[in-house]
Amino acid sequence: AQKNGYNNYQFFVREDNTVHDRKIKIEQGLKKALHNNEFELYYQPQVHLKSRRIVGVEALLRWKHPELGNISPYEFIPVAENTGMIIPIGKWVIQEACRQIKLWQSAGIRIKIAVNVSALQFEDHQFIELVNESLSQNLLPPKYLELEITESVMQKINQSFAIIGKLKNIGIKVSIDDFGTGYSSLSVLSNLPIDVIKIDKSFVSKMMTDENTASLVKTIIEMGSNLNFGLIAEGIETEEQAEFLMQNGCHLGQGYLYSPPITKEEIGKLLNKENVV
Ligand code: C2E
Ligand code: CA
Ligand code: CA
Ligand code: CA
Repeated sequence: AQKNGYNNYQFFVREDNTVHDRKIKIEQGLKKALHNNEFELYYQPQVHLKSRRIVGVEALLRWKHPELGNISPYEFIPVAENTGMIIPIGKWVIQEACRQIKLWQSAGIRIKIAVNVSALQFEDHQFIELVNESLSQNLLPPKYLELEITESVMQKINQSFAIIGKLKNIGIKVSIDDFGTGYSSLSVLSNLPIDVIKIDKSFVSKMMTDENTASLVKTIIEMGSNLNFGLIAEGIETEEQAEFLMQNGCHLGQGYLYSPPITKEEIGKLLNKENVV
């Protein structure tokens, strides 16, 4: 029994080390990643569900670690947030997105990019300056940049109000990402100058099989429309989901049904082929 116990102990230590090593490698790697050009933005089309025409794209960050390979943002973004690295990384994301909008514009493609912004970045005192500079350096009208923040940003409601107000003044749209997964109520949101509610993909994936989720989605759409928010659903994978959303009044969406996130070259080809709205 003792030997077994010992073996088990060894086993867990080794497992632990692997997890720990990986975390260290990610932490260390993040510090060099910008300098070594290891980040890339992928783009997922946002479409008008009925016509399938592209109305915008969401930028999603990709990181290829030299040793560990591709790492999901679900894994490295939290580490970047904990170490503060999210500030320079998030800065790069906004600058890169603005450079891309500009490149597309020069090629005759006018499309807006939605960029994910973490709460830490949003609260950074240089954030507004960064947004302003990124737009002006590329001579971009602000309507081509949209920012996606999560409900966690809303926890500091007064501060958020001021920042969103400033973004509003610049002319930038702000969306609430993963809507419904946090704790903020629609009544709180109704007091914020938010433009768009993004219906979280966890609801979209369950709404065809779970009645409560279906009701929840209907309620979000109804209240959102009444409060004059734009609505967009994420994670649409089937025609049935798209149909349900349209019938209940949500007309924009994104998901694998239309396209996964793809490289700038790939999405450039898609955008070229059609008249972008
Ligand atoms: P998110 O902003 O909620 O993005 C949606 C995620 O769902 C993306 O994962 C996207 O690739 C994935 N997705 C898109 N369509 C479908 C679908 O039809 N089905 C399913 N199952 N998934 C779909 P991704 O790209 O791995 O990003 C994960 C999260 O990492 C994002 O969630 C966002 O919170 C964060 N993230 C990504 N890029 C950035 C960034 O530049 N800055 C910050 N702060 N966070 C980022
Ligand atoms: Ca998002
Ligand atoms: Ca989401
Ligand atoms: Ca998210």
